[in-house]
Amino acid sequence: MKRLNDFQKAQIKLTFHYFLINFFIIAIASMIAIFIEQRFILQTLDPSKIGSVVQPNHLSLRENFREVHRVFVQRVLIFDFFLVLISAAAGYFMSGRTLRSIKEMMQKQEEFASDASHELRTPLATIQMEIEATRRTEKKIPSVYDKLLDSIQEESKRMTNTVSGLLTLVRSDTEEYRKEFDLAGITSQAIKQIKASSEAKKITISAKDLENAPVFGNEDQIRQAVLVLLDNAIRYTLDNGAVTVSTKSEDSKSSFVISDTGVGIPKDDWSKIFERFYRVSNRQINDQQRTGLGLSIAKKIIESHGGTISVASAPGEGSTFTINLPRHS
Ligand code: ADP
Repeated sequence: MKRLNDFQKAQIKLTFHYFLINFFIIAIASMIAIFIEQRFILQTLDPSKIGSVVQPNHLSLRENFREVHRVFVQRVLIFDFFLVLISAAAGYFMSGRTLRSIKEMMQKQEEFASDASHELRTPLATIQMEIEATRRTEKKIPSVYDKLLDSIQEESKRMTNTVSGLLTLVRSDTEEYRKEFDLAGITSQAIKQIKASSEAKKITISAKDLENAPVFGNEDQIRQAVLVLLDNAIRYTLDNGAVTVSTKSEDSKSSFVISDTGVGIPKDDWSKIFERFYRVSNRQINDQQRTGLGLSIAKKIIESHGGTISVASAPGEGSTFTINLPRHS
């Protein structure tokens, strides 16, 4: 079965809330109706009001009224049952209407961000190409201009990273590409992809405990989240450090754990690093081209799959990031 999207979940939640309110109103209205009916019967049966003429029939009158009361309560309950059903259906319809305009507004925002990111990518790529071309054609560039070109190139690379990160963040989730795959498999692939940067810093990546870990989801997106954590582990670990990666499966969830012997993260920043553009300044690390978007992208991907991502770290000792994902849809 296809996973329910956020709006469907919100619609069901809202329907439930409408239903609860309606249920209480119907219950209170019915209790008042029964109370009034009972009072009416009691008043009618009051001997002082019935008078002496009907006295002989008083007992059978009482029986009749008891029967009338039983039928009345029965009808009220049947009526309530249908009213509750109608109110649930109306609640579902109304919550759908309420959420539709919010959904449309969010879609428009996402489209705008997506279009803007697309539009920005082309000029940024052109700037980078032109710098490359200038470097190739001009034999001797004065050092002052060379430095300027370096700085423009670095900034445009950082902008390109930011723009593609934003594009990933706003792109809607593609649920139709979800299937079952092994977390251990994509971890091995991601390690291969990152090999060059770990070798450049002489960082060892140990992946001895890659146990079979089935996950249901979008394989490309989860690989991207794993790559963000691997890339960060290498980037924020000094030369000759170590990174350990493991995967395993337990009950209904599969997990991916990555530990490094890097610079670490102060406790106050643990939750903030998952926010967009939040960065912890690291004097020991050259991170000029970083965007502060990697972990927010990873978080969005993992949470859209019904999973969790968390961190534990000790500054100067290292960090451990854990991803938990449901095994099934
Ligand atoms: P970026 O790496 O582009 O700055 P991220 O969202 O990936 O953005 O990370 C946010 C911040 O979290 C980084 O600036 C860095 O300070 C910190 N961080 C992430 N991973 C690690 C890690 N493994 N070790 C130490 N710090 C980390």
